[in-house]
Amino acid sequence: MTKTIFVTGGSRGIGEAIVRLAAGAYNVAFTYFRSEGRAQALQRELGAGVLGISCDVRSCSSVQEAVDRAKARFGRIDVLVNNAGISHSGLLIDMTAEQWRDVMAINLDGAFYATKAVLPGMLSQGGGAIVNISSVWGLQGASCEAAYSASKAGLIGLTKALAKEVAPMGVTVNAIAPGAVDTDMMRDYTADEVSALISDRIPLGRLATPTEVARAALFLAEHSYITGATLSVDGGM
Ligand code: NDP
Repeated sequence: MTKTIFVTGGSRGIGEAIVRLAAGAYNVAFTYFRSEGRAQALQRELGAGVLGISCDVRSCSSVQEAVDRAKARFGRIDVLVNNAGISHSGLLIDMTAEQWRDVMAINLDGAFYATKAVLPGMLSQGGGAIVNISSVWGLQGASCEAAYSASKAGLIGLTKALAKEVAPMGVTVNAIAPGAVDTDMMRDYTADEVSALISDRIPLGRLATPTEVARAALFLAEHSYITGATLSVDGGM
């Protein structure tokens, strides 16, 4: 039986790399929000086993509808990757309550909504895997990224707690803490800032490719005896 993977934020960056790597081996349902054209092109390129679904992860009902559409197409969901996320740079004292809420809503609430939507199926199937894309900043904290760091630390807490809760039912829950990955999210930094980050902080001397993070996500999704873990994919950062 071909397993089904559900990836939030699969239209670009790390999510797109997970979609590409999983296609063929899995049925793939992925969500997109603003990048409709890219998502449709990706779906066309990868063929019938891949389904792009419009979804705003800030909305519980939008996420539930997306999961329902994936199940209607593929029958069940075996793997969930909570990947959709945004960053926000700036001093905490300058941050508005709305900006704080948006970071939390996308990065943390969205993961809760998707997890809540897929878990009943996984529990009744007697197995499944959830992979949460956290961040090195969720472990270390980053100056001028307090909300982002808090949301990503929250994902690690969710991972550890839920792993214990659902392990008896055969569901694994793990997190990945990527370092700096070459995606649109890095465009917040100038070229000089990226060079300084690499030379000062990354022993392997370069950014990660999205595919390198995608490989780690599928590794965790397929591993039967790792749960509650946070895997750093950060070049030694
Ligand atoms: P990108 O900015 O390249 O892509 C972000 C993805 O999230 C897009 O697919 C976007 O969809 C989706 N998204 C944004 N807002 C929403 C929303 N409201 N509802 C649904 N989907 C939404 O980011 P990356 O690929 O770099 O990041 C992916 C994950 O990895 C994030 O959680 C990020 O925090 C994490 N990460 C990234 C690092 C990096 O250096 N790049 C480092 C550590 C962690 P659309 O375009 O369709 O709107």
